[in-house]
Amino acid sequence: MKEILLAKYGEMALKGLNKKTFEDVLMKNVKRRLRSLGKFEYSSAQSTLYITPVDENIELSEVSERVGKIFGIATYCRACVCEKDFNDIKEKSIEYLTDILSGAKTFKVNAKRADKSFPMNSPEICAELGGILLEKFPNLTVDVKNPEITVTVEIRDTNAYVHAENIKGAGGLPIGTSGKALLLLSGGIDSPVAGYMIAKRGVHIAAIHYVSPPYTSDRAQLKVEQLCEKMTAYCGGIAFFCVPFTEIQEAIKDNCPEEFFTIIMRRLMMEIAQRIAKKDNCLALVTGESIGQVASQTMAAMCCTDAVCKIPVFRPCIGMDKTEIIEIARKIDTFDISVQPYEDCCTVFTPRHPKVRPRLEDIEKAQANFDFEPLIQKAVENTEMKTFDLNKG
Ligand code: ATP
Ligand code: MG
Repeated sequence: MKEILLAKYGEMALKGLNKKTFEDVLMKNVKRRLRSLGKFEYSSAQSTLYITPVDENIELSEVSERVGKIFGIATYCRACVCEKDFNDIKEKSIEYLTDILSGAKTFKVNAKRADKSFPMNSPEICAELGGILLEKFPNLTVDVKNPEITVTVEIRDTNAYVHAENIKGAGGLPIGTSGKALLLLSGGIDSPVAGYMIAKRGVHIAAIHYVSPPYTSDRAQLKVEQLCEKMTAYCGGIAFFCVPFTEIQEAIKDNCPEEFFTIIMRRLMMEIAQRIAKKDNCLALVTGESIGQVASQTMAAMCCTDAVCKIPVFRPCIGMDKTEIIEIARKIDTFDISVQPYEDCCTVFTPRHPKVRPRLEDIEKAQANFDFEPLIQKAVENTEMKTFDLNKG
C-alpha cells in the first residue's frame, strides 16, 4: 500500500497577507530537511502540505521523524493513497486502519471533497464508509462530537487519501521567517534549550562559542560542535563561530579585582558577540541564563552585562527552573551531550567570592584598569567559522 505524509500548518495559517511567504519558507525548509532521504513530490492545499515519496526505498517513519521537528507544522500524519474509486477507498481503509480501529471504542468519518466531480458527496462518503467500518469492527460505535478516532477521506485531483492519525508537530513558525539571532552556546544544558526556543519562533540561529586553550580542551569544543549538530534537526543550518578567548581571560585575571572576574568576562563576551552578530546579520543575542541560577545570573549582574549591549539580548530560559529546562533538553536530545564533563571557559579563573549584587559603576571602573579593545579586535579577527547542516551529517 502506498503512503504519503500530510503536514498541517500551525499558527502561520493565521498570518493574513503574509501567509504565502510563510508557506513558501516552510515548503523550502521541508524540502531541505528531506532532500537527503530521496526524491519527493510536494503540493499544498487548505493549510496542508502533501509530501509524496517518489523513490521506492524511502522509509516513511524516517520522513515522519524529520517532519516532526520542523517548526511551522502543527500536526502531521501518514495517509494511505487510494484510487478515486469508492471500492478502492473502502478496501484500503479497512486494511490500512485495522490496527488503529481494532483498539478504539468510538470513531467518526470525515470527508473532504476537493474534486467535486467525484460521484458521491461528502455526507454520502461519511455515511457509506462509516456503515462499512461499523460492520467490520464490532468494537466501534459512532461518536460525532468527541470521537477517539477520526477517519478522514480526502478526494483530491489525482488520488484519494485516507488517514486517522494526528501527531503533534513541532509548532512555532518556519525557521527564517523571523530573521537571524546569535546564540551564545556553551557546552551546558541551558543554552541549547535557549536556542531551540528562539528558533521555534521562526528565528534562524547562528552560534558563538568561546574557548580558552590550554585551560579548555579540544574535547570541550568538540562537545559544543556535537550540540550544534544535534540542534540542526530543529534549527536547520547553523553557522558556528569559535572565539579564542584565552588572552582576554588572562588579561582580566591580571588586571581586574577577582570578585568582578565573571561579570567583566561576560561583558567582554557580549562585546565580541555583538561584533560577530553585525558581521553575520544577526539582529539579537540569545543566552541560556535563568534568574538566580548562579552569581552571574542575578538581575544586578545581568544589568551590568546588558549595559554593554546595543542589540537586544533574548533569554528564553529566564523564568524557568532547572528541571523545566532539563525536560526540554531531553526532548531535543541535547541533554546527554551537555552532561559530558568537559570544562567551559566560564569555569576558568572563577572568583572564590563573586559579587552577587555588583554595581555598574564599580564594574566599569574596574574594567577601565586595562584597555581591552585591542584584544577584543584580535579575538574577533581570529574567530573561526564552521557550518553545520543536517544534510551533511
Ligand atoms: P549553560 O547550561 O547554557 O552553560 P549555565 O547555567 O552553565 O548555562 P553560565 O555558565 O553562567 O550558565 O553561562 C550563562 C550563559 O552564557 C550560557 O547559557 C551561554 O549562553 C553563555 N555562555 C557561557 N559560557 C559560554 C561559552 N564558553 N561560549 C559561549 N557562550 C557561553
Ligand atoms: Mg555553562
